[in-house]
Amino acid sequence: MAEILAPGSVIGILGGGQLGRMLSVAAARLGYRCHIYDPAAHVPAADVATALTRAPWDDRAALATFAAAVDLVTFEFENIPTAALDVIEPLRPIRPGRNALAVSQDRLNEKTFLRDQGLQTAPFAAVDSRADLDRALAEIGTPAILKTRRLGYDGKGQTRIAAQDEADAAWQAMDGAPAILEGVVPFTREISVIAARGLSGEVAAFDPGENEHKGGILRKTRVPAKVSPAQRSDAVLMAAKLLNALDYVGVLGVEIFVTPQALLVNEIAPRVHNSGHWTQNGCAVDQFEQHIRAIAGLPLGDGSRHADVTMTNLIGEDLDRLPDLLRAPHTAVHLYGKPETRPGRKMGHANHITTMR
Ligand code: AMP
Repeated sequence: MAEILAPGSVIGILGGGQLGRMLSVAAARLGYRCHIYDPAAHVPAADVATALTRAPWDDRAALATFAAAVDLVTFEFENIPTAALDVIEPLRPIRPGRNALAVSQDRLNEKTFLRDQGLQTAPFAAVDSRADLDRALAEIGTPAILKTRRLGYDGKGQTRIAAQDEADAAWQAMDGAPAILEGVVPFTREISVIAARGLSGEVAAFDPGENEHKGGILRKTRVPAKVSPAQRSDAVLMAAKLLNALDYVGVLGVEIFVTPQALLVNEIAPRVHNSGHWTQNGCAVDQFEQHIRAIAGLPLGDGSRHADVTMTNLIGEDLDRLPDLLRAPHTAVHLYGKPETRPGRKMGHANHITTMR
């Protein structure tokens, strides 16, 4: 049996957005306290955590003091600067480990890793110069998508290339950043698997959800995904394979394109994931609690689905619909406490239970 984090221990969370907030609530339910580290002026997680360190990612003294004040460290986003992790790692365990971060922080490393695991991805090629882009377009063809290798999320840092004559503009949009060209996958559905691996190596996966994006941002996740039983088990097995390959501890999100012929992995997120929010109202143990259980060395919980759920993100002005959502039957509203509504900003989500099972 792996070593269990004692009740009352403090979990340090790097990043204090809505994911850190929901992790903190889950940790509190299991008797733990959370200490958030985030440089931002407003930190949604700090409202529900025991302590906040507001300091920049390059403040080595603040990072060391934070590490000394917690028992272990986890994170809610993957773009944590390596130098910050260098300070923490000798002082406290970081779960999941840095291996998963290194893979997911860079799209080229990520795609290469996925391919090395025998999983299929979109065709891809590294693009470090304008000449590289021409070579990659000749190899992959159009339509294609040029993406920055690092620091992209919610469709940011991406440009579609419908035809060769759009290459100049796409290259300029990268602003010199190292990039990757991907062939556009003619998918019929986008699904994701949220899966967990415990400290002792046990693995548990939630049912795959089906995702709907608009403008690169996740709008809805529906469970069950409309996939065949074989596709469902293949998707779960792919997630389990990645968890084991990374010797992972915690929750991992795996985004998958479904085509009639194959399942292709789009990307992995080494953290709880927006497309797993439905688990809060569809499972006895949700993704946030599952993550805390995993990193704390507790047994993983029962994540089987007791309801069909549609999760809808409340983005920007969607919050105007709040009174209706609060009145809607079989609907749970989760708000993140962000003081300012901005276009494109995730303000909360609503889980609508469509059928009890
Ligand atoms: P990403 O930031 O890579 O998750 O991309 C955001 C969204 O853009 C995905 O969820 C897809 O809807 C779309 N997308 C990204 N890459 C591809 C691709 N290679 N083929 C088709 N659609 C893509």
